[in-house]
Amino acid sequence: MRREMRILLSLLAGAAALLAQGSADWHAAFPAFKVAGNLYYVGTADLAVYLINTPQGNILINSDFEEDVPTIKKSIEQLGFKYADTKIILISHAHGDHDAATGIIKKDTGAKLMIMDADVAEEQSTAKGRPGAKVDRILHDGDTVELGGSKLVAHLTPGHTKGCTTWTMQVRDGARTLNAVIVGSPNVNPGYILVGNKDYPGIADDYVKTFAVLKSLPCDLFLGAHGAYFGLKAKYAKMKAGDANAFIDPDGYKAYVAERESTFRKEWDRQKQNPGTPAK
Ligand SMILES: [Zn+2]
Ligand SMILES: [Zn+2]
Repeated sequence: MRREMRILLSLLAGAAALLAQGSADWHAAFPAFKVAGNLYYVGTADLAVYLINTPQGNILINSDFEEDVPTIKKSIEQLGFKYADTKIILISHAHGDHDAATGIIKKDTGAKLMIMDADVAEEQSTAKGRPGAKVDRILHDGDTVELGGSKLVAHLTPGHTKGCTTWTMQVRDGARTLNAVIVGSPNVNPGYILVGNKDYPGIADDYVKTFAVLKSLPCDLFLGAHGAYFGLKAKYAKMKAGDANAFIDPDGYKAYVAERESTFRKEWDRQKQNPGTPAK
């Protein structure tokens, strides 16, 4: 019993430390920078926000939490762009760390909010922590979002949320064209039920579909909803040290997708053996 207690306590301490670290990075400012071409990073130290600059205004991917809006706004201005020029808001998926402030940014700038069909109900929900933001355009798998000569493709990568979206874009960077992939999320969160989930019966099959989609996408620039997915801090440091290709990482992308799929499959197998026990 005492041994179990000790293990439990050390597990809890570990989880608390992780949570504290996660939340510290969530709201910490991070230098705004150009990833490549007209694609910029304007998020916090972990909650990624991307800006696509075009002659007809800007596209923002993700809004983060309400308290992060001043940080995002400052980053946009530090790059020499105008917050008021935000024309379109997109999200990685309908969880508060990526979309809680979509309603605020929409109200501030008059931008149009475009959301994958299966996340629309969550986006418009006025439940606690939900943005309650009116969706202007409902997206479907494979739809494109275009502004001022830039084109993004919305890939449905469901499981993490029903409408989780991975964005791709061909970025023209000088003489070269780079394939950017902004991963929505392949993660099975604590509490997720993969077997016998009454609210989301197809969840496990959706994750399987997501990994097939992610593996099919050509990737030069590996990006995602959280900086931790693609090693934001380390790559930024490499870039500052003079490596112009720091964010070009096709091998890192492949390794990340393979590792996440194996983690998902292990958890799925565990839940098949122990139905009704959620992910930790
Ligand atoms: Zn999420
Ligand atoms: Zn998240």
